[in-house]
Amino acid sequence: MNAAGPLDRLRGLLKQQELDALFVSTPENRRYLSGFDGSAGCLIITQSDAILATDFRYVEQAGRQAPDYRVVRTGVESKWFPTLLSELGVRRVGFEAQDLTVAQYNQLTESLGKGNGVSLVPTQGMAERLRAVKTPEERGLIQRAIDAADTAFSRVVSTMRPGITEQELAWELEKAMRELGAEKMSFDIIVAAGPNGALPHHHPSERVIRTGEPVVIDMGARYQGYCSDMTRTVVLGDGGETFRRVFDTVLAAQETAIAAVEAGMTGEQADSLARRVIQEAGYGDNFGHGLGHGVGLAVHEFPRLGLRSADVLEEGMVFTIEPGVYLSGWGGVRIEDMVVLEGGRAGVLTRAPKKEKAGE
Ligand code: ZN
Ligand code: ZN
Repeated sequence: MNAAGPLDRLRGLLKQQELDALFVSTPENRRYLSGFDGSAGCLIITQSDAILATDFRYVEQAGRQAPDYRVVRTGVESKWFPTLLSELGVRRVGFEAQDLTVAQYNQLTESLGKGNGVSLVPTQGMAERLRAVKTPEERGLIQRAIDAADTAFSRVVSTMRPGITEQELAWELEKAMRELGAEKMSFDIIVAAGPNGALPHHHPSERVIRTGEPVVIDMGARYQGYCSDMTRTVVLGDGGETFRRVFDTVLAAQETAIAAVEAGMTGEQADSLARRVIQEAGYGDNFGHGLGHGVGLAVHEFPRLGLRSADVLEEGMVFTIEPGVYLSGWGGVRIEDMVVLEGGRAGVLTRAPKKEKAGE
């Protein structure tokens, strides 16, 4: 691990990109770089200054949570922005192109006026790349989020009975995760039974879960800001021949990818490890999404594992491996674990059983 903190590493990137400052508006980046977890505020980082600008509601909290930052109170008008920039003497100021809306961008440029010598420069993924490699402290928080989901899954699925609806099952899982210390869900739980499972992002409905149909459960907890993400596919009773064939294919694809993924590979190379297994089983057209994604303060973050992803996997990154096969009219099977790259190889962090028998 690099001993330098995130702020120092970001300053290195500023130098590389010949920026005098970075204006950070993405909430997860703000939290990562400063420690401040309020719902409003932005950072301005230069080589020698670190400023956290927020409104009166958060000034006290910001001072406590972000001791390395000078806290500036913003007003209703955006006058603070040009005033601060001229005080800092910066000219090339990066902003986060993926976060700032056009309206916010216009407001900033209007507040700067003309002839001030400041140019706003779009940047992409600067803090996101730093966030991808997790510190031991972050790993600990992520593991707590994973543990809450693992335990909740085992607890709830073992007591699952025919007659329960998708919505009821989702609520049981949510309650259990909260009881196990989750501060909230990292995303709305997906419970997709039977044909609904062919829609990878189906919302739980009032549909009753029937015996013999596959049930895709995609869930994650959040713990001190950090997310977990896992998918299991279970069946009440006997899923029959199709279920066994599809399930075994997806599991083999997942296990192959976990065993073979290595630091230095691109997201596309990692994806192809699982995709090849699914193609060879004849389901190539039924794996319509990428193999996985980074997980941290956001449930979907850098790197991306999928077709055409040039993101390079590095030691210390935490990401998902989640192949799936979806058959229209029948349903789907997806199996998702979180892994960390350690010693160049994937260590599996998720512990929930993959062949859990529902209702037993
Ligand atoms: Zn998921
Ligand atoms: Zn995922």
